[in-house]
Amino acid sequence: MPDSSPEKIVIIGSGPAGLTAAIYTGRANLKPLVIEGNQPGGQLTITTEVENFPGFPEGITGPDLMDVIKAQAERFGAVIISEEATKVDFSVRLFRIETGEREIKAHAVIIATGATARWLEIESVKRLRGKGISACATCDGFFFKNQEIAVVGGGDTAVEEACYLTRHANKVYLIHRRNQLRASKIMQQRVSSNPKIEIIWDSLISEALGDKSLTGVRLKNVKNNQLFDLPVTGLFMGIGHHPNTEIFRGQIEMDESGYIITDCNMRTSVEGVFACGDVQDKRYRQAVTAAGTGCMAALEVEKHLEEYQFS
Ligand code: NDP
Repeated sequence: MPDSSPEKIVIIGSGPAGLTAAIYTGRANLKPLVIEGNQPGGQLTITTEVENFPGFPEGITGPDLMDVIKAQAERFGAVIISEEATKVDFSVRLFRIETGEREIKAHAVIIATGATARWLEIESVKRLRGKGISACATCDGFFFKNQEIAVVGGGDTAVEEACYLTRHANKVYLIHRRNQLRASKIMQQRVSSNPKIEIIWDSLISEALGDKSLTGVRLKNVKNNQLFDLPVTGLFMGIGHHPNTEIFRGQIEMDESGYIITDCNMRTSVEGVFACGDVQDKRYRQAVTAAGTGCMAALEVEKHLEEYQFS
């Protein structure tokens, strides 16, 4: 692997957290290197309209928002590489990050690898992944034109996906395991006023039906334990996310769900390694909070490098 001189700061991840950290460290003249990862721009690139990012009163699409944030980071000298971090060694300084194509050494690291949609742990659901079952409404909704489909979950993701999917599908069932949605009030109102959406309460998916592609789902009513089959040709996961922290396991402290533990200054358990955005935040998970913590991590890196290099 080619050997290169150490970077002052390497940012792993290119969602709103990572790219905001890149803007700030770029402006601080630290020449950040951003390892973009396998989903450049992060989760916002698979969402539709972003209505709550300050500064866009008419809303903006997720991909457009990430494009402008990326351009802003590059304007201040961030170098963004289309590679994926596959291994890290934080046990000694300089820190080491491997991408498959090279080994990068760094004085400081910001982890901003975000989170990924969770899937139901059901064998038949996994088997029919990509054959009618998806976790990305904006990527795959188009394939379900004029069909009857379902979304599982009761949070903002599920509700947003259900609303979006009514653009394509004839009917969208929202399958929720309780009798109350977790989603925000405004999203709940949108669901209840959308004539194409029907909520199936108190129900769990026990099986995905179909051989070569999805033909329906078997549901279990949790109140009376009755099973019933719902014929649908599409099923979308909307049951939350898990953090992308596999490569950091054993290197850094995490909670029981794999989220990286940070203090209020975005510091991790390893001095010189910081984390921001959804990889360390399971509570707010908003683009604007991710950007905010990206800014905080960058300011802390700047301070840390001054102390570390000149002490
Ligand atoms: P949440 O954790 O909020 O919701 C997950 C939902 O899936 C819950 O309703 C939960 O049920 C259900 N669920 C979890 N596991 C299972 C399972 N095994 N079987 C069936 N149902 C299950 O995740 P989200 O991804 O929806 O949202 C995460 C965060 O991101 C939130 O803070 C949300 O506000 C934010 N967000 C904001 C958006 C926006 O502002 N536009 C868009 C999308 C997300 P139960 O309720 O019973 O726990």
